[in-house]
Amino acid sequence: MKQGLEIIDSIQKKQNVTLEKLRFLLETQDKEVLEYLKHLASQTTLAIYDNHIYIRGLIEFTNICKNDCLYCGIRKSNTNAERYRLTKEDILSCCHTGYELGFRTFVLQGGEDGYFTDELICNIVSSVKKQHPDCAVTLSIGEKTFESYQKYFDAGADRYLLRHETANEAHYQTLHPSELSLENRKRCLRDLKDIGYQTGCGFMVGSPNQTIETLYEDLQFIRDLQPQMVGIGPFIPHKDTPFAAKPAGTLDRTLRLLSVIRLIHPHVLLPATTALGTIHPQGRELGILSGANVVMPNLSPSQVRKKYMLYNDKISSGEESAEGLKDLKQRMESIGYQVVVARGDYK
Ligand code: SAM
Repeated sequence: MKQGLEIIDSIQKKQNVTLEKLRFLLETQDKEVLEYLKHLASQTTLAIYDNHIYIRGLIEFTNICKNDCLYCGIRKSNTNAERYRLTKEDILSCCHTGYELGFRTFVLQGGEDGYFTDELICNIVSSVKKQHPDCAVTLSIGEKTFESYQKYFDAGADRYLLRHETANEAHYQTLHPSELSLENRKRCLRDLKDIGYQTGCGFMVGSPNQTIETLYEDLQFIRDLQPQMVGIGPFIPHKDTPFAAKPAGTLDRTLRLLSVIRLIHPHVLLPATTALGTIHPQGRELGILSGANVVMPNLSPSQVRKKYMLYNDKISSGEESAEGLKDLKQRMESIGYQVVVARGDYK
């Protein structure tokens, strides 16, 4: 068997990758090898999750943030961002709409906004769970203490998304202000797992200063942490950030990494992210065909969507939106997959 194909087989068998194998898979231009990588990754997903695509209703409930991450359009220094907060009633109304559409997971994501105290978050989580006891609630509201995470969990939160962004210390520092540390980010992720959340980490593909070596560290971190979810999508510059002139991550590299992650971590819930849909009109489908099995359409009220602008030209209508679900279903069917009405827990 050809050497490149053997490499892919060995990654699948060992559920691990070496730096050299990763370099090969990210650099090769051999079409047969790339097809095989996609094929094995998507077969792995099909064997575990069938051809089912899980949908998550994303509610971006505040774009106010105390942090100043250099890549992010809602960083606190961006005075051009028009800030907003949704009320508890707005959030419940989004969930109601989502439920009718067939969503059984709601993802509450936002900047680190002090207005939303632990008490308020717990109140919102328990209200959503009370109205929709058959649904999962995912939080994605950044770095908190163990005690806060425990309170949200006790209020009914099921899952938590917190991308680690990069597992390399020096790289982490180039992406974040000095108050933020990789050490604390990792502490948060371990706390979340210990508490019992289905936990998601992840990173941007092509973030400034990322190298194959740092990506290798990301994959090793994922192997160590054993998260239930991994969110990766291309870095896309935002015009009002210090990284405005940096190049975006590529579709090709993101797809290759989705496949590698599926092979080393077969059961992981792996979204084809909004950022992937933003850099290519078929980004979502291509992500699924590379091993992803989750999509997260936007359930936020349409008047605030354009304000949650993490990067230039972020999509928020069409198949990306909850109203575009019919279109999304058709697109998934056209590639042999079906969107299901289910919580879509980790298997
Ligand atoms: N504040 C929470 C946190 O830090 O986890 C959740 C919101 S944060 C905006 C969600 C994710 O958006 C980040 O983890 C980051 O990876 C992604 N993101 C931010 N800016 C981005 C950019 N310019 N391109 C692509 N993704 C970006």
